[in-house]
Amino acid sequence: MGIASLMRPVRALARVLGAGNDELFGPEERSRQIKLASFIGAVVGLPFAFHNLFVSGLLVVGTIELLAVTLLLLPAAILAHRQSALDLAEGMILLAGLAIFGILIVYRGVQGTGLFWGFVFPFLAFFLKGQRRGWWYSTAFIVLVALHFFSWHKYLPFAYRYTTSFSVHYLEVLCGFTVIASGFNLLRTRFEEKLQERVTERTAAAKAYLEQLQYQATHDVLTGLPNRIELVTRLKSEIERASAQAKGLAVCNLLVQRLHELGNVLGNAGADKLLLAIADQLKATVQDRGMLARTRRDEFVVVYWLDQPTLDQQRLHKLIEQRQVSVQVQGYTLRVEFTVGVSACPQHSSDADVLLRQAEQSMLQARKSELPWMLYDAAQEQIFQRHHLLFGRMCEALERSQFELYLQPQVDMTTGHVIGAEALTRWTDPVEGSISPAVFIPIAEESGLIGPLTDWLVRRCMAESARWLKDGLHLHLSINISAMTLLSPGLVENLQASVQEFQVSADLFNLEITESCFIASPERSLEVMHQLRNLGFKLSIDDFGTGFSSLSYLKNMPIHELKIDQAFVRSLLSESGDQAIVASTINLAHNLGLRVVAEGIEDDPTARWLAQQRCDIGQGYWFARPMPADAFMALAMSHRPLPVESLLTEEA
Ligand code: C2E
Ligand code: MG
Ligand code: MG
Repeated sequence: MGIASLMRPVRALARVLGAGNDELFGPEERSRQIKLASFIGAVVGLPFAFHNLFVSGLLVVGTIELLAVTLLLLPAAILAHRQSALDLAEGMILLAGLAIFGILIVYRGVQGTGLFWGFVFPFLAFFLKGQRRGWWYSTAFIVLVALHFFSWHKYLPFAYRYTTSFSVHYLEVLCGFTVIASGFNLLRTRFEEKLQERVTERTAAAKAYLEQLQYQATHDVLTGLPNRIELVTRLKSEIERASAQAKGLAVCNLLVQRLHELGNVLGNAGADKLLLAIADQLKATVQDRGMLARTRRDEFVVVYWLDQPTLDQQRLHKLIEQRQVSVQVQGYTLRVEFTVGVSACPQHSSDADVLLRQAEQSMLQARKSELPWMLYDAAQEQIFQRHHLLFGRMCEALERSQFELYLQPQVDMTTGHVIGAEALTRWTDPVEGSISPAVFIPIAEESGLIGPLTDWLVRRCMAESARWLKDGLHLHLSINISAMTLLSPGLVENLQASVQEFQVSADLFNLEITESCFIASPERSLEVMHQLRNLGFKLSIDDFGTGFSSLSYLKNMPIHELKIDQAFVRSLLSESGDQAIVASTINLAHNLGLRVVAEGIEDDPTARWLAQQRCDIGQGYWFARPMPADAFMALAMSHRPLPVESLLTEEA
């Protein structure tokens, strides 16, 4: 059996007792321990000191206890505040313990009770000095006590004389308490150790989770590309860098065209693969010339670094020439195109958020204009903003009934009598004043507000018509129906319901339709027109001659009137070409059995010329301007033939 195998149980025992464990605690913990030991020492020591001094008559013991508390324990608590004095403070407490317990062993205390205090020393040593040094100090204490029992007491005349068997027994118990103290301390340190391990583990897990959350908050989950939040952060620092180096940036907002349709064909998983493939292609295109981010499901942003602070046309074309990518998804080769909006730094802005908004807005503008790309244009943005501003105001205006019905008389060209009117909407905004229909009607059409607006107009016209009928006036009313409204579901039902509600006859209403609806959807337009005709409504083609409707359609349309566009009427007397167009249109209409209305008549010679050409009905400022419904009714009731000398109620 070698020495190594002999040492094994010794080492195992040492491990169990924690002999090799180093000090675990940091300065703060040590300082706390010192203060705690000093406090307990002082609280226990002082009453005993006074008791021994003044009650038991153990003057030496009491004095040493008092001195130990005042000179060692209390100063140690003060020193515990200084990190460099921690060793000293611990030493002072141990010295106090040695002094108090030592003198109690020497004197034996009151009827032997002083001896018990010796057992406290190992606890104190392990508590303050840790496992390894705790063993040293405790062993030293045992040796000192043994030396006292077996040798030194002879030199101290006042020392109590213990018997040998008592001394041996006491030392055995002291050794036992040392082992117990070591065990307690080991448990305490192991507990702390475990606690610290758990804290470290949990902290690491929380840190990893936080990092993951941070990543998710700043990156697109599907492609791993930076998202908008991260893009803004990076763009900000790129802007700073570019401005420091007198360089520029081009921000390109890329909208994947038809992603929705492609997604429907490929399914969700297929659409994700498509987006991944697009992201890869874009990465390959951009390389190290800029940075790429995914900002929405179907939008990517590329920020290109420019050598110069300006983005010239040549450079711009180079950037956007790769507007298409070919990607392989589910065995298909798909050609994906982007609509691109571009803004440049510092040309357009040096603010990350503004640049991104400008690029996005240019992209939207390009999409609306069906262009492949568009460079940011401040004037366009103003129009865009105004558009949205007016849209909001129009919603309010509809709710607050701020729209007004104006009527422009239509006159029989042979008799001069008012035979009806065209209904025109007027809007007076409380802030901006009167806003032209040429401005708000296109916005209403784009935003879908034209539906509620037409509903309002129809109901208002029918209410007016019902009022006229009561007063014996059988006048017709022309209502403008935009192409979008004509094709929207519910129009026929709404009109039918309104006619029933107001108890008016449908044939009093002329629905003016422009040729543009035939370009958008000829079959559907014809279908709706037939439905309206079947309900009794009359139909008219407004602004005839400006659209592109083919004459073959005209033949099949269930219309009863053509309105010649005012552009031809206005220049009628100066342009022989317009005369030819107007005369032919009148003939064409009459040959098809249609009535002809000329609008925009502003003077007497034009009216005369049109009358000579047998134009049926005239409308224009020369007869009367559009006027409020009450003014129109007064005019109609007067049965005065027009033209009148002075123009009637002028439009505001
Ligand atoms: P439109 O249907 O061709 O209406 C005729 C327009 O010509 C009206 O302009 C009218 O005020 C104007 N006008 C009439 N006589 C003359 C004239 O002698 N000289 C000149 N220079 N202009 C004349 P307004 O009211 O500004 O309306 C413009 C367009 O807006 C209308 O053209 C119509 O397409 C549309 N609109 C107006 N109100 C409504 C509406 O309630 N619904 C729909 N869908 N469109 C409307
Ligand atoms: Mg009209
Ligand atoms: Mg017109």
